[in-house]
Amino acid sequence: MSTTRQDVAIIGGGVIGCAAAYFLKLVGVGRVTVIEPDPTYAKASSPVATGGCRRLFARPENIRMSQFSIDFFKAFETHTDVDVQWKEGGYLFVVTAGHEKVLEQNYRTEKDLGVKVELLGAKEIAKRYPWMRNDDLALGVLSPEDGWLDPNSVLQGFRKKAQALGAAFVKDRVVDVYTSGSRVTELEIGSGQRIEAETVINAAGCWAASVAKLAGMDLPVNPMRRFEHYVELGDPLPPMPLIKDPERLVIRPEGKGYAVGLVDGREPRGFNYELDPSWFERVVWPALASRIPAFEKLKLKREWAGLYDECELDGNMILGNWPGRLDNFYVACGFSGHGLMHAPAVGRALAELIVKGRFETLDLARMNYQRVLDKKPYGETGIL
Ligand SMILES: Cc1cc2nc3c(=O)[nH]c(=O)nc-3n(C[C@H](O)[C@H](O)[C@H](O)COP(=O)(O)OP(=O)(O)OC[C@H]3O[C@@H](n4cnc5c(N)ncnc54)[C@H](O)[C@@H]3O)c2cc1C
Repeated sequence: MSTTRQDVAIIGGGVIGCAAAYFLKLVGVGRVTVIEPDPTYAKASSPVATGGCRRLFARPENIRMSQFSIDFFKAFETHTDVDVQWKEGGYLFVVTAGHEKVLEQNYRTEKDLGVKVELLGAKEIAKRYPWMRNDDLALGVLSPEDGWLDPNSVLQGFRKKAQALGAAFVKDRVVDVYTSGSRVTELEIGSGQRIEAETVINAAGCWAASVAKLAGMDLPVNPMRRFEHYVELGDPLPPMPLIKDPERLVIRPEGKGYAVGLVDGREPRGFNYELDPSWFERVVWPALASRIPAFEKLKLKREWAGLYDECELDGNMILGNWPGRLDNFYVACGFSGHGLMHAPAVGRALAELIVKGRFETLDLARMNYQRVLDKKPYGETGIL
């Protein structure tokens, strides 16, 4: 059994692990190793994401993370030599009567933080989007500078640039975590090799809870299945933003067609990648055609299943160590559907925590593990 010594060992090489490796190398950390068993990412969340990036949140931390990350994505090619195909199509949340207050509150927070955002009354929605059924809608919020991108390009861009800057990638999985006092000392990987590390990051996505368990830490993070569908219309609609409606339906343009999905929070938790062949026809298509009648005549071209790493406490990420118990073991997980858009901000935050011992550019302390121990949710409101 051989041992290698690292400054930082990162468990999981999805978009979060790769972004952390990139930012750590950028600030000059010496030996950084990412342990990732599957370079094809067949089961990872990162490559199957919708790719939506929005500043529409209730919590200032999430808004600020999006502000940094979207600017970063727009210059991604300069940073990493990979183009993420940023499309600034805008984001539109629409709600029915009775739900306006939350949207208005969030609008004020977003505006106070400098987000370009507009409130649209029912008449304005009807005027701007005449092809969308609006008789049940009371209010909308539009952020015209939000948009979407290609998730796999983000993942590959961070991975390749982290490698170019000197990060090593080990094709294996962590099978055990050894501790001494309040520190993780070594990781054992499938080959039997041990990796000694000054600091460890747990970025294992849907597997983060089982990895944390190896170190004696409980995380309220579970895999939750979600379906994505790609459809085409004979006559495409005029250019449109990414729309989220009261049914939790998500629609955005993609190439010649549209990427669509409908989030079902009641989905049983677990590693289930099976497609439900009736879900689209039973649930998504009726919701889609009801919101935008042109979709009655759609052609379903492709569909796939992926997993959210759902934070059961409050739907927000868990970021940081467990002071006094696991001082050098940082978790970054529980992204619940917004990990891709926040990856640059999370990577930067992890590099600050590890190198400087504190958040420097953006205080994310409220997203820490203590709130889990205290059972104090710090959730979003108005997320459709
Ligand atoms: C259908 C769908 C749509 C989504 N849409 C969006 C969106 O529009 N916008 C957005 O921001 N987010 C979206 N998300 C969420 C986003 O994809 C995730 O939050 C993000 O990809 C999480 O990245 P990650 O690196 O933490 O996890 P992953 O990409 O899953 O990476 C975790 C990695 O850990 C590895 N691993 C597991 N166990 C071990 C181990 N023991 N040792 C070492 N490595 C291990 C795995 O192989 C995996 O590659 C969506 C997700 C899904 C499923």
